[in-house]
Amino acid sequence: MISRKINKNYLDKIIQKFKKANTAEALAKQAKKIKFGIVNLANKIEYKEIFSKTAAKIKNISWKSPKTIGITVLALAVIFSGCFYFSSTTPAVGIVVNGKNIGYAASKSEAKRLVQEILTQQGNAAGTVAQTSDTIEYKSLRLKNEDYTGPVSKDVLANAIKPYVNGYGLQVNGKVVVVLANEQDINTLLKKYEDYQTKPSKNNTVSSVKIVEPVSKIASKVHPSEVKTVDAALEILVKGDVAETTYTIQEDDSLWLIARKNNMLTDEVIAANPGFTEDSVIQPGQKIKLVQTKPYLTVRSEGTKVVSEVVPFDVLSKTDSSLGYGKSIIKQAGKDGEKAVTYSYVEENGKMIEKQVVKEEVVNKPVNQIVAKGPGRSIVYVGTSRGSGSISGLSWPISGGITSYYGSRHGSFHTGIDIDGVTGQPYYAAASGTVVEAGWDGGYGYCIMIDHGNGVSTRYGHSSKLFVSVGQTVSKGQNIGNVGSTGNSTGSHLHFEVIINGSTVNPLNYL
Ligand SMILES: [Zn+2]
Repeated sequence: MISRKINKNYLDKIIQKFKKANTAEALAKQAKKIKFGIVNLANKIEYKEIFSKTAAKIKNISWKSPKTIGITVLALAVIFSGCFYFSSTTPAVGIVVNGKNIGYAASKSEAKRLVQEILTQQGNAAGTVAQTSDTIEYKSLRLKNEDYTGPVSKDVLANAIKPYVNGYGLQVNGKVVVVLANEQDINTLLKKYEDYQTKPSKNNTVSSVKIVEPVSKIASKVHPSEVKTVDAALEILVKGDVAETTYTIQEDDSLWLIARKNNMLTDEVIAANPGFTEDSVIQPGQKIKLVQTKPYLTVRSEGTKVVSEVVPFDVLSKTDSSLGYGKSIIKQAGKDGEKAVTYSYVEENGKMIEKQVVKEEVVNKPVNQIVAKGPGRSIVYVGTSRGSGSISGLSWPISGGITSYYGSRHGSFHTGIDIDGVTGQPYYAAASGTVVEAGWDGGYGYCIMIDHGNGVSTRYGHSSKLFVSVGQTVSKGQNIGNVGSTGNSTGSHLHFEVIINGSTVNPLNYL
């Protein structure tokens, strides 16, 4: 409206000036001035308006007056400059984002369509149309023909507009861990994560599931790329939070022991500390980095599991005087039995916290191995050697986490370390030596003891199966038995002892 008013006033003024000009020089002077003004003014007014208003003025003019000539000059000047202006410029719409002109489109509807296309494209990742809090204005204007090179490129526009979508954040301990499209997706995610950690099946009846950490859902405006699908979010939860901590080296630590203490692999400890190798010398008090992944969520579950366990066969020896001195033959080959063990459990993220056997059913009875032995040196027990106690390079009988360390435990003394394992898993001699014990040994269950000489021996307890017999020579790394849970044991593991001159020592100092 204002520009139209200016337009009218301006034209009236021009007419007045022309009416007052009496000489040809004055007319020419005015016309010159006016043409200049008109071109500037034309930037703000519409072509039709100039034309119709000018024509209206011309109609009312007396053609006899010399001023008419001036008016005619003016009219021609206006029309000429108007025509020139319109033929040398193009109408366009400027797309202004947060006050900054980003580019042009041919029309307002095209500009709006472009913006909408960008928001649709940006929202694609989140399966919706994105929104923006940016101020977007559309300004109609004319551009010199050579300045208008077509609509703004999508890339330029996409870079200028900050999109967001409405998502739902899964908050754990007050921190948003992952954002999903909606509340329903979060519920699905939590259910999938619970199933992942508890693995319910025919033989695993899960009776209760609880997420330990405080969990909440929170509506959040986020960049579309932050919105994850249920499967991608599950992957994030399963992977866990990667956290870097500092560890101060203790007296008697080794890289291996540090890894064990922190439930890591030696290689992971080395990888977190550039420049470290397996042979790096570490000093007590020295600080090193540990990069560990911690789960975001802990699923605590209770239930019952039915597992099949091996019932190892017994070996019965009978003296047979018809056999030669020190000779023995197997009269009947032993065969392992099988039992179905039902136990109730409490687990956290699939790791056993509590376990109690509620039922045991023998499915197949074991068959005893019957050995006939000739008279003479029947080796029942060979005393272990005595000596300097020096030994190096004992190797791990199995790889697995330590579930119980050497030392005081529940008011008694744990004479070895317990290494996690499953029934039937083979374990190996820590060093070469002579078997001095192989059989049932009270609380140790099926147990093996090897004398390595120099007063050093090792013991392997709770086995499900033994592959060696007393007096036999074994080599380092030889499969001597299988892990089990026989004797005084609450679950499948290998109890491993190192004994020097008759006394147990901390095996971790010798491995
Ligand atoms: Zn033990």
